Amino acid sequence: CGIVGYVGPQPALEVVVNGLARLEYRGYDSAGVAVLGEGTLRSEKRAGKLANLRQALEEHPVSGEGAGIGHTRWATHGAPNDVNAHPHVDNDNRVAVVHNGIIENFAALRAELEEQGCKFLSETDTEVSSHLLSKELERRGDGDLPGAMREVCKRLEGAFTLVAVSTDDPDLVVAARRNSPLVVGRGEGENFLASDVAAFIAHTREAVELGQDQVVELRADSVVVTDYEGNPVDVREYHVDWDA
Ligand code: GLU
Repeated sequence: CGIVGYVGPQPALEVVVNGLARLEYRGYDSAGVAVLGEGTLRSEKRAGKLANLRQALEEHPVSGEGAGIGHTRWATHGAPNDVNAHPHVDNDNRVAVVHNGIIENFAALRAELEEQGCKFLSETDTEVSSHLLSKELERRGDGDLPGAMREVCKRLEGAFTLVAVSTDDPDLVVAARRNSPLVVGRGEGENFLASDVAAFIAHTREAVELGQDQVVELRADSVVVTDYEGNPVDVREYHVDWDA
């Protein structure tokens, strides 16, 4: 339902949770975050209101100097509970993903991944994507998360915005978009992405809209957008001049 991503010098957790709060008006049934720090991926997620997530974060603090992503879920596949809330991680806790929309061919992909030994924790359509990204990173052996994202997206059917972080590159957020909203917010020495500019206009009003079937690589000082073949593409940049 709602997505936020951040890379920059501010504490990612705070930026992401505050961004999610700006998206609360959309309605949701669960919320979660993942942050990279000290070579590990830390995530926390809870069914119910953002207050439940905030409470969980107080009990089990999740900190990190790296990138962060967050999600508010509107369940389509799997009950609205803690386990089905996003982010979803692979079995090595190497990759975390948040996802808006529906992966239509998830059942076939899940069967294939289970055959290869992947253990699924949730009932969501989303979880196939964390395992697929992890497998692709393993296959490539180069830690290239954007490359892995491009390959994985070619296998996904349906409408989605998919956002990932990985321990391979703790200062990077990668996102892909097909028939579901995704906007980048360009800051100075920091960058944001979200399903809605409302999540980041407290920080920046310089936005970049992604087109269909594009992948964005977000770092503190760069925003690179490509198609699924890795070719750079032109994007629409605009200034957000309304108040949210
Ligand atoms: N289909 C996914 C799920 O049910 C994502 C739902 C959403 O867009 O929040 O978990």
